[in-house]
Amino acid sequence: MSQEDQQPEIKRGMVVFAHPDDAEFGCAGTVAKWVAEGIEMYYVVTTDGSKGSSDPNVSYEQLIQTRREEQLAAAHELGVKEVEFLNHPDGYLQHTLELRRDIARAIRKYKPDRLISMTSERSFTISGYINHPDHLATGDATLAAVYPTARDRMTFPELITEGYEPHKVREVYVTGTETPDCWIDITDSIEKKIAALYKHASQVTGPDVQKWVRERAAQTAEGKEMQYAECFKVFYLR
Ligand SMILES: [Zn+2]
Repeated sequence: MSQEDQQPEIKRGMVVFAHPDDAEFGCAGTVAKWVAEGIEMYYVVTTDGSKGSSDPNVSYEQLIQTRREEQLAAAHELGVKEVEFLNHPDGYLQHTLELRRDIARAIRKYKPDRLISMTSERSFTISGYINHPDHLATGDATLAAVYPTARDRMTFPELITEGYEPHKVREVYVTGTETPDCWIDITDSIEKKIAALYKHASQVTGPDVQKWVRERAAQTAEGKEMQYAECFKVFYLR
């Protein structure tokens, strides 16, 4: 019996990520799989997505609205129950106490048993990709929000005043890490992942994305007796 089997039933899950489309790229196969298993899933987006365009004719306001609608459509495709937008400015995110409190508030509001976080590690081994600073800040603030902020009554007492009682997350799955220890079989949900990704029409176009997603998921699944997988580093919290 694994450590996970000894835990009580997981009823609610949450994904905290920086930009509209991060969750779809990183873990939408897993999200769709968990929804199919009966877990209520919630999304928390830390930024407003206002820098995700190179079109000189698009305004911040237009882009925020477009990306918000795209994220809602992607979440709907996956069966995610609700999406909370924290609306911090895209591209400028830092792990501030305000960000930590905002994430902790969402955790206390939706009470996830299981939470998916972005990694807070900067990689120096992968060439061709530099992890976005908003991802790093989101990952770091999310882990700090899980422990100890969301579960400690004395931290940010204004959250109690607002009606948000402490909540303890039991499992944290970290995406994008170089030291994964958990592989989720997404063979049955990769089509949902791809369909959800293409809802981000301002960011994701053309057949190459779908090809890349399949190649990457197949590569992740190598040696695991799965066709397609997503991988995580998992923390089981006591
Ligand atoms: Zn991103």
